[in-house]
Amino acid sequence: MSALATCDVAIIGAGPAGATAAYLLARQGYDVRLFDRRGFPRPKLCAGLLTWKSIDLLERIFGQSLDRLKDHGLIVHTCREYRIYYKMKEIGGGRLDFPFHFVERPAYDHHWLRLAERAGAKTITGTAVTGVDAEAGRLTLADGRAFGARMLIGADGVWSKARRALPEQIFNERRWRANLAATIEIRHPNDSTLPPSECACLHFGYVPRGYAWSFPGRTARTLGIAGLRTPRSGSIRKDFQTFLNSVGVATDMEACWKGSPLPYGNYLEQPVHRRLLLIGDACGLADPLLGEGIYYAHASASIAATAMVEANLEAGPAGRMYRERLNRTLIRELRWIKLWRTALFFGGRLRRYRGLGLFCRLLPKRLEAAVQGRHPFSRLLLPGSGRNHNPQIG
Ligand SMILES: Cc1cc2nc3c(=O)[nH]c(=O)nc-3n(C[C@H](O)[C@H](O)[C@H](O)COP(=O)(O)OP(=O)(O)OC[C@H]3O[C@@H](n4cnc5c(N)ncnc54)[C@H](O)[C@@H]3O)c2cc1C
Repeated sequence: MSALATCDVAIIGAGPAGATAAYLLARQGYDVRLFDRRGFPRPKLCAGLLTWKSIDLLERIFGQSLDRLKDHGLIVHTCREYRIYYKMKEIGGGRLDFPFHFVERPAYDHHWLRLAERAGAKTITGTAVTGVDAEAGRLTLADGRAFGARMLIGADGVWSKARRALPEQIFNERRWRANLAATIEIRHPNDSTLPPSECACLHFGYVPRGYAWSFPGRTARTLGIAGLRTPRSGSIRKDFQTFLNSVGVATDMEACWKGSPLPYGNYLEQPVHRRLLLIGDACGLADPLLGEGIYYAHASASIAATAMVEANLEAGPAGRMYRERLNRTLIRELRWIKLWRTALFFGGRLRRYRGLGLFCRLLPKRLEAAVQGRHPFSRLLLPGSGRNHNPQIG
């Protein structure tokens, strides 16, 4: 039997969360191995929207400004106008102070992976991690190889294998599934039947506990739908079809539909067990209103890596620091977003989103600032403090 290969940190999953953690830890001189079942660049279903807080965080973590991201060709589209609809009735909208930026995920994710490699992380792609032992700090791969590490990071997305290494009293499968949204997305070429528009549109009223979107792009619009499912929910495919019909998209596109689950309020407050920390989608860290997860992937990776460096890879202290800081920053904000979602968005459907419409008319800039991360959702009804709200991560 060959000797067990060992390293300081083994990271499962090389998406934005895993690549960010690998970059930050490798830069500190740790021996980091980054595993992904896919070869890169790999496809990833995503609308690719970056809000202000993501752009700000990328500069703080990687030192790459918006101009650098554009120079690298990562920002493929920018849009300043947005509209909010209840079905086809416009209930809000305007001009954004800071535009939405759009990326193509294969190139975007590959970029951060290359930076992690340049910082010294060793990547092993094209073979899945099939076993995770959080107690021993050990991974096994589909090809039979095994790796030992002082600490493990689970960054393997919504279907995380690493998450299964958490004991039942920490990971509640029922709560997880109850807050997992179904999604469908398509790309609709710009030169087709749909009237051209440079507007990012959010549509409520097509799916009971979620929303549909239509985002502009360089060559195609991205149209999608996300919603929580209950035993009484109808088919999300039907909801999506109704949405496509009402915005005038030809109905013969079903063959191009792609779907994937999205964490939608199932963030784990205890994402730590023995030598293992979970980050990004594996930890349920996406915004439970709009489903924005790229920011939370980078941010949770940064919090985890900082805790591990400060604890010099001592699993106990690193885990405690990560859990405490994550709850104080990202999870606190996600809890508030979830509360607002119930009050304004999901609850609002019974009154045809009149509350949301009123909010959009009276406090449009406050809502915009909260979505962009410049104003906390906990203070949505209060004026801004003028401070930069983005938690000091990175
Ligand atoms: C339809 C849709 C639209 C979205 N739109 C947006 C948006 O516009 N803006 C936004 O911010 N967020 C959006 N999101 C959310 C966003 O895509 C995720 O939150 C983000 O990708 C999370 O990053 P991650 O690194 O945690 O996981 P991922 O990007 O999923 O990366 C996980 C990696 O782990 C690898 N992996 C999985 N299992 C294993 C295994 N067993 N062994 C080895 N490797 C493994 C995978 O191959 C993958 O590369 C959207 C999501 C969906 C579904």
